[in-house]
Amino acid sequence: MSQIELNKRQEEILSIVKGNGPITGEQIAERLHLTRATLRPDLAILTMAGYLDARPRVGYFFSGKKTAQAVTDNMMSLRVRDFQSIPVVVEENVSVYDAICQMFLEDVGTLFVVDKNKLLTGVLSRKDLLRTSLGKQDLNKMPVHIMMTRMPNITYCMKNDLLIQAAKKLIDKQIDALPVVLEQANGLEVIGRLTKTNITSAFLSLAENHDI
Ligand code: ADP
Repeated sequence: MSQIELNKRQEEILSIVKGNGPITGEQIAERLHLTRATLRPDLAILTMAGYLDARPRVGYFFSGKKTAQAVTDNMMSLRVRDFQSIPVVVEENVSVYDAICQMFLEDVGTLFVVDKNKLLTGVLSRKDLLRTSLGKQDLNKMPVHIMMTRMPNITYCMKNDLLIQAAKKLIDKQIDALPVVLEQANGLEVIGRLTKTNITSAFLSLAENHDI
């Protein structure tokens, strides 16, 4: 069932039931200085939407369903560092052929390219490598730095960034992965990889404790 926006009184009722349930409609009304009749529509909405359960002769109790606000709060607490994967990097002079092998061996869709100092210089996607393979060049002789997407055009994130910010970058730039980097004096050190799969796991973690 979808989350509905609760009004102030419904939020108040929820918190009373959370703290005091099971509790009768009469007792909730008393606490809010309202009549039972005034509360009836709100109680009906909360029950129908699954926030409250009602048992005859026992009263209302909290069903454990999260409010929309709680779900948003949870989402805003997710950080890149909790969901990032290990990065797979190759050096700039590695051949396109070897990069393709590496992609299969490591079972990743994006490789990051680094220089001799291990600093980020490029990104290689599946389609970058496919496109190059369509040509007539010898893939064993062609270094990846010729065809990679290079700095400063690389979109990246930091481990302490909100996951939601990283998700927005993936969508806005229409890419599958971001390098997670650490800023060094002379460039960016690659310390992780954040992909659409990581975002999907985070999405699933929000539904923890729910049957799916
Ligand atoms: P694919 O090309 O396999 O569909 P992507 O959508 O990730 O994979 O990549 C699309 C293009 O964007 C490619 O040319 C790739 O080099 C580039 N790209 C991928 N990731 C990044 C990134 N983090 N920053 C900048 N460019 C990127």
